[in-house]
Amino acid sequence: MNPPSDPRRYDLEALRARVRDERGGRVDDSIPQLAEADPDLVAIALVLPDGTARTSTGCDVTFSLQSAVKPFLFALALLDTDGEALDRVGIEPTGEAFDALKLESDTGRPPNPMVNAGALLTASLVDGSDAEARADRIARGLSAFAGRTLDVDDDVAHNEHLLGDRNHALAHLMRAEGTLTPSADDAVAVYARACATLVDTETLAVMGATLAFGGLNPRTGERVVPRRVARDVVSVMATCGVYDGSGRWMRAVGIPAKSSVSGAIVLSAPGRLGAATVSPPLDEQGTSVRGRIMSEALSDDLAIHSFEVG
Ligand code: GLU
Repeated sequence: MNPPSDPRRYDLEALRARVRDERGGRVDDSIPQLAEADPDLVAIALVLPDGTARTSTGCDVTFSLQSAVKPFLFALALLDTDGEALDRVGIEPTGEAFDALKLESDTGRPPNPMVNAGALLTASLVDGSDAEARADRIARGLSAFAGRTLDVDDDVAHNEHLLGDRNHALAHLMRAEGTLTPSADDAVAVYARACATLVDTETLAVMGATLAFGGLNPRTGERVVPRRVARDVVSVMATCGVYDGSGRWMRAVGIPAKSSVSGAIVLSAPGRLGAATVSPPLDEQGTSVRGRIMSEALSDDLAIHSFEVG
């Protein structure tokens, strides 16, 4: 193996160039705004322990968080329930698609917080007396992870609420099992707003870094969640973050991560760095094709695979 590159000098443009001609994958078309994403967009950002960012071309393009929001929803639910969220949602990988209509057979709980059922539930556990208050709480919490005020794309939120039939089905299923407290419609509305939160690649890397550095935002110095919460969240990203591709991801990339249908991936390498990639074409498991290749190369080149012996 070559000696590891220094993240401060690592050539992000060369990494981008390596994947630019990759033509695999399909852009998600579940809502019009996602279908309109530029298939040629490729960006990568790293955030280091002192909060400085390394960014490639394309890092200024904004996109909705989609499922990259799930680790942060889990973190906020753990924080606001003082850990009780761990009793309300499972933490086992499913080996199934992100929106599978499946709950734990013995408990009726969602299988884990990284699939849609789990995120619908964690979004319902944050503080707030009604859907609007919970959505506000989530917006404030996500902004603390990001180190700046984040906006929501109202049209994306509206369409996801309207067109998310499987999410409505999952919420009703959890209501029938008695595991979801708010109305199914409120739960979908709050989750849809969280998914519609707008970020750019650098901001998403700051969010990943906040988890990687034990809940402390390296940009603002704010303690967003306790160390134990960050550790719990990153553990579940490692086992469940890439859906039914999580095993392959951990072997090849070895960095806890969360994929999303917008083509973004957020990565948290504990104690080392936060990173994010975006490139819309997705593989069968809903992971960005170019994002996966860049993440694998990053892990190899910087020698930051979790199980790499130094
Ligand atoms: N908002 C999307 C949904 O719930 C997120 C899915 C994803 O990014 O994997 O269908």
